Amino acid sequence: MPLTEKPGNWSCIVDGKAVVDSGAILDLSCEMPLGDVVRYWGQDYTFRGPLSVRVLVSGDRTCLSVNLSLKGTAEVPCARCLEPALLDISGDFLYFYRPLPECSEGAEPAEGSEEDVVLVDSLETELDVSCQAWELLILTLPEKSLCSENCLGLCPWCGVNMNKVKCSCSSGQADPRFDVLAGLMKRERDHVPGKGGDSDGNSKK
Ligand SMILES: [Zn+2]
Ligand SMILES: [Zn+2]
Repeated sequence: MPLTEKPGNWSCIVDGKAVVDSGAILDLSCEMPLGDVVRYWGQDYTFRGPLSVRVLVSGDRTCLSVNLSLKGTAEVPCARCLEPALLDISGDFLYFYRPLPECSEGAEPAEGSEEDVVLVDSLETELDVSCQAWELLILTLPEKSLCSENCLGLCPWCGVNMNKVKCSCSSGQADPRFDVLAGLMKRERDHVPGKGGDSDGNSKK
Protein backbone atom coordinates (compact mmCIF):
# COMPACT_ATOMS: atom_id res chain seq x y z
CA MET A 1 0.00 0.00 0.00
CA PRO A 2 1.46 3.37 -0.95
CA LEU A 3 1.86 5.76 1.94
CA THR A 4 -0.25 8.88 1.90
CA GLU A 5 0.11 9.71 5.56
CA LYS A 6 2.64 9.22 8.34
CA PRO A 7 3.49 5.51 8.79
CA GLY A 8 2.27 4.06 12.07
CA ASN A 9 5.75 2.83 12.97
CA TRP A 10 7.30 6.29 12.93
CA SER A 11 8.29 7.74 16.25
CA CYS A 12 10.97 10.16 17.31
CA ILE A 13 10.73 10.95 21.00
CA VAL A 14 12.25 14.08 22.48
CA ASP A 15 12.64 14.20 26.27
CA GLY A 16 11.30 17.70 26.79
CA LYS A 17 11.70 17.48 30.57
CA ALA A 18 15.43 16.74 30.28
CA VAL A 19 15.92 19.80 28.03
CA VAL A 20 13.90 22.08 30.35
CA ASP A 21 15.67 20.78 33.49
CA SER A 22 19.20 20.89 32.11
CA GLY A 23 18.96 23.92 29.85
CA ALA A 24 21.32 22.08 27.51
CA ILE A 25 20.88 21.36 23.80
CA LEU A 26 19.56 17.91 23.01
CA ASP A 27 21.03 16.37 19.88
CA LEU A 28 19.11 13.32 18.71
CA SER A 29 19.01 11.17 15.59
CA CYS A 30 16.10 8.98 14.52
CA GLU A 31 15.74 6.59 11.59
CA MET A 32 12.27 6.55 10.04
CA PRO A 33 11.53 3.34 8.14
CA LEU A 34 10.10 3.80 4.62
CA GLY A 35 9.36 0.31 3.31
CA ASP A 36 6.51 1.42 1.06
CA VAL A 37 6.43 4.05 -1.63
CA VAL A 38 5.29 7.49 -0.60
CA ARG A 39 2.44 8.65 -2.84
CA TYR A 40 2.18 12.42 -2.96
CA TRP A 41 1.88 15.24 -5.49
CA GLY A 42 0.54 12.65 -7.95
CA GLN A 43 3.81 10.69 -7.89
CA ASP A 44 5.27 7.60 -6.23
CA TYR A 45 8.55 8.16 -4.39
CA THR A 46 10.49 4.94 -3.73
CA PHE A 47 12.97 5.31 -0.88
CA ARG A 48 16.33 3.59 -0.73
CA GLY A 49 16.50 2.94 2.97
CA PRO A 50 15.09 4.84 5.90
CA LEU A 51 14.81 8.58 6.30
CA SER A 52 17.36 10.00 8.74
CA VAL A 53 16.11 12.74 11.00
CA ARG A 54 18.39 14.82 13.18
CA VAL A 55 16.71 16.78 15.95
CA LEU A 56 18.24 19.66 17.90
CA VAL A 57 16.17 20.85 20.85
CA SER A 58 16.73 23.71 23.23
CA GLY A 59 14.63 26.07 25.32
CA ASP A 60 12.75 26.37 28.58
CA ARG A 61 9.31 25.49 29.94
CA THR A 62 7.64 28.28 27.91
CA CYS A 63 9.05 27.34 24.50
CA LEU A 64 11.24 24.67 22.97
CA SER A 65 12.82 25.25 19.60
CA VAL A 66 13.00 22.00 17.66
CA ASN A 67 15.18 21.97 14.57
CA LEU A 68 14.57 19.04 12.23
CA SER A 69 16.96 18.03 9.44
CA LEU A 70 16.01 15.27 7.02
CA LYS A 71 18.21 13.16 4.81
CA GLY A 72 17.28 10.37 2.45
CA THR A 73 17.48 9.05 -1.10
CA ALA A 74 14.46 8.34 -3.26
CA GLU A 75 13.53 7.46 -6.82
CA VAL A 76 10.68 9.01 -8.74
CA PRO A 77 9.73 8.78 -12.43
CA CYS A 78 11.37 11.48 -14.55
CA ALA A 79 8.79 14.07 -15.63
CA ARG A 80 9.97 13.81 -19.27
CA CYS A 81 11.05 10.20 -19.94
CA LEU A 82 9.48 8.30 -17.00
CA GLU A 83 12.77 6.52 -16.20
CA PRO A 84 13.65 6.59 -12.49
CA ALA A 85 15.20 9.86 -11.41
CA LEU A 86 17.35 9.79 -8.30
CA LEU A 87 16.58 12.37 -5.63
CA ASP A 88 18.63 13.52 -2.68
CA ILE A 89 16.08 14.38 -0.07
CA SER A 90 17.20 16.98 2.41
CA GLY A 91 15.21 19.48 4.38
CA ASP A 92 15.64 21.67 7.40
CA PHE A 93 12.99 23.38 9.49
CA LEU A 94 12.60 25.03 12.86
CA TYR A 95 9.46 24.40 14.90
CA PHE A 96 8.48 26.09 18.14
CA TYR A 97 6.80 23.89 20.70
CA ARG A 98 4.70 25.75 23.22
CA PRO A 99 2.40 24.67 26.01
CA LEU A 100 -1.30 25.29 25.45
CA PRO A 101 -2.22 28.51 27.21
CA GLU A 102 -4.05 27.80 30.47
CA CYS A 103 -6.32 30.72 29.76
CA SER A 104 -6.76 31.48 26.08
CA GLU A 105 -7.79 35.08 26.66
CA GLY A 106 -4.92 37.48 26.88
CA ALA A 107 -2.42 34.90 25.64
CA GLU A 108 0.61 36.50 24.03
CA PRO A 109 1.00 35.99 20.31
CA ALA A 110 3.34 33.09 19.69
CA GLU A 111 6.80 33.59 18.28
CA GLY A 112 7.16 32.63 14.62
CA SER A 113 4.36 32.12 12.14
CA GLU A 114 1.38 29.95 13.00
CA GLU A 115 2.61 27.02 10.90
CA ASP A 116 5.83 26.79 12.88
CA VAL A 117 4.16 26.59 16.28
CA VAL A 118 3.14 23.23 17.74
CA LEU A 119 0.92 23.48 20.80
CA VAL A 120 1.19 20.66 23.37
CA ASP A 121 -0.22 20.09 26.87
CA SER A 122 3.19 20.40 28.45
CA LEU A 123 6.79 20.71 27.28
CA GLU A 124 8.11 18.82 30.31
CA THR A 125 7.25 15.42 28.96
CA GLU A 126 8.07 13.10 26.06
CA LEU A 127 7.30 14.79 22.76
CA ASP A 128 6.97 12.78 19.56
CA VAL A 129 8.24 14.97 16.71
CA SER A 130 7.61 12.38 13.96
CA CYS A 131 4.46 14.21 12.73
CA GLN A 132 6.62 17.25 12.04
CA ALA A 133 9.21 15.03 10.32
CA TRP A 134 6.50 13.65 8.03
CA GLU A 135 5.16 17.14 7.30
CA LEU A 136 8.66 18.31 6.46
CA LEU A 137 9.28 15.28 4.23
CA ILE A 138 6.14 15.99 2.19
CA LEU A 139 7.11 19.65 1.78
CA THR A 140 10.62 18.60 0.74
CA LEU A 141 9.52 16.16 -1.99
CA PRO A 142 9.83 17.89 -5.38
CA GLU A 143 6.66 17.92 -7.47
CA LYS A 144 8.65 17.56 -10.69
CA SER A 145 11.97 15.80 -11.17
CA LEU A 146 14.18 15.08 -14.14
CA CYS A 147 16.60 12.15 -14.57
CA SER A 148 19.02 14.74 -15.92
CA GLU A 149 18.90 18.41 -16.88
CA ASN A 150 19.35 17.42 -20.53
CA CYS A 151 16.72 14.67 -20.61
CA LEU A 152 15.25 14.52 -24.11
CA GLY A 153 12.00 12.88 -22.99
CA LEU A 154 9.76 10.61 -25.03
CA CYS A 155 9.19 11.05 -28.75
CA PRO A 156 5.69 12.58 -29.12
CA TRP A 157 5.08 10.52 -32.29
CA CYS A 158 6.35 7.01 -31.56
CA GLY A 159 6.87 7.18 -27.79
CA VAL A 160 10.48 5.92 -27.66
CA ASN A 161 12.82 7.22 -24.98
CA MET A 162 14.87 9.69 -27.01
CA ASN A 163 17.76 9.43 -24.52
CA LYS A 164 18.24 5.82 -25.61
CA VAL A 165 16.87 5.52 -29.14
CA LYS A 166 17.16 7.81 -32.12
CA CYS A 167 13.97 7.62 -34.13
CA SER A 168 13.37 9.37 -37.44
CA CYS A 169 9.97 10.82 -36.56
CA SER A 170 10.98 14.32 -35.69
CA SER A 171 12.09 15.57 -39.12
CA GLY A 172 9.43 17.45 -41.03
CA GLN A 173 6.35 16.22 -39.21
CA ALA A 174 3.69 18.25 -37.58
CA ASP A 175 2.91 17.92 -33.92
CA PRO A 176 0.77 14.77 -33.45
CA ARG A 177 -1.84 16.84 -31.67
CA PHE A 178 -2.68 18.34 -35.06
CA ASP A 179 -3.65 14.85 -36.25
CA VAL A 180 -6.66 15.01 -33.95
CA LEU A 181 -7.64 18.31 -35.49
CA ALA A 182 -7.11 16.96 -39.01
CA GLY A 183 -9.32 14.00 -38.13
CA LEU A 184 -12.08 16.29 -36.96
CA MET A 185 -11.87 18.34 -40.14
CA LYS A 186 -12.06 15.16 -42.20
CA ARG A 187 -15.19 14.12 -40.32
CA GLU A 188 -16.72 17.48 -41.10
CA ARG A 189 -15.97 17.03 -44.81
CA ASP A 190 -17.29 13.46 -44.87
CA HIS A 191 -20.52 14.49 -43.25
CA VAL A 192 -23.00 15.01 -46.08
CA PRO A 193 -25.62 17.61 -45.16
CA GLY A 194 -29.25 16.55 -45.52
CA LYS A 195 -28.79 12.89 -44.62
CA GLY A 196 -29.21 13.54 -40.90
CA GLY A 197 -27.29 11.88 -38.15
CA ASP A 198 -23.63 10.99 -38.19
CA SER A 199 -21.77 8.28 -40.08
CA ASP A 200 -23.12 5.59 -37.76
CA GLY A 201 -26.67 6.57 -38.57
CA ASN A 202 -27.43 7.85 -35.13
CA SER A 203 -29.45 10.99 -35.03
CA LYS A 204 -28.36 11.94 -31.53
CA LYS A 205 -25.47 11.36 -29.21
ZN1 LIG B 1 14.32 11.72 -18.16
ZN1 LIG C 1 9.77 8.82 -32.73
